[in-house]
Amino acid sequence: MNANTESRTPAVAVLGSVNMDLVAYVDEVPGGGETVTGTDFRQVPGGKGANQAVAAARAGARVAFLGAVGDDLFGAELRADLREKDIDVTGLRTVPGVSGVAHIVVDGRGGNRIIVVPGANGEVTGVPEEHRSLLEGVDALLLQLELPMEAVTAGARLGREKGVPVYLTPAPARELPDELLAHVDVLVPNQHEAAAITGYDEPRAALAALLERVPEVLLTLGEDGSLYGRRGEEPVAVPARRVTAVDTTAAGDTFCGSFAVARAEGRSPREAMEFAAAAAAISVGRRGAGASMASRDEVEALLR
Ligand code: ATP
Repeated sequence: MNANTESRTPAVAVLGSVNMDLVAYVDEVPGGGETVTGTDFRQVPGGKGANQAVAAARAGARVAFLGAVGDDLFGAELRADLREKDIDVTGLRTVPGVSGVAHIVVDGRGGNRIIVVPGANGEVTGVPEEHRSLLEGVDALLLQLELPMEAVTAGARLGREKGVPVYLTPAPARELPDELLAHVDVLVPNQHEAAAITGYDEPRAALAALLERVPEVLLTLGEDGSLYGRRGEEPVAVPARRVTAVDTTAAGDTFCGSFAVARAEGRSPREAMEFAAAAAAISVGRRGAGASMASRDEVEALLR
């Protein structure tokens, strides 16, 4: 930590999705009407919102999660899992019906096919009155696009009202209404999302175009690292750490959650990107999403 770094524990709120990932491994993906025998199966908590919440908690923040699960068995498991990871679930509502699930089929070559059924995530419309206090005094609000757009927009507006820096990961990629972007401080797309929004594949061109719509952009570029820009300033580029990639699931969520915590501690954008790159590299080197994320001690050890 440098001299500017605050010693107070940073606080982060996440308004987002939580899913149960059901992952089946097969040599060859079946065609229509065909049945094949799989080689393995795993049930793991996921969802971009929950993944970012876990990343922020592992990075050392106090984290409150806002969202919804169904009144099914998965809902109870997802809630228990977040709680076990020291995340405040007061703002996680249980609604009638199914929880969000992602059906993931991984073939023998590592390729995947995914069906996400939003379930309870689709029932979130905003932040209910009784949960608004969870945003009081936090250092960052993290949003993604796996909730209905009205919920994301309401969250961003509330964050802005409370003076909280609002981060938006625009995934899955879709049209971003001005009404939403008007309340976003930091946009965190990957290269594919940045290209989908701006039409530019080239990172610096995409960054410049995005900075016309939001004040700060953190563009993640997979094994090519990350690029950060703030209006009117020279962009900052930080390379990825060399690691043998085992599973890149949630690399972007780990990066975003860790970056936000490091910024909340008073680190510069470059220092926060280096911290996030170390956290993401550890996660990429292990199998699984939330379960593979590094603890703060592991990240600090890698940075030494
Ligand atoms: P995902 O959708 O899998 O969550 P993403 O596409 O949103 O990921 P990426 O841009 O692929 O996000 O990766 C985010 C960060 O993770 C990168 O900036 C980099 O620091 C790290 N990272 C990703 N892939 C690798 C890799 N193969 N080796 C080292 N670091 C990586």
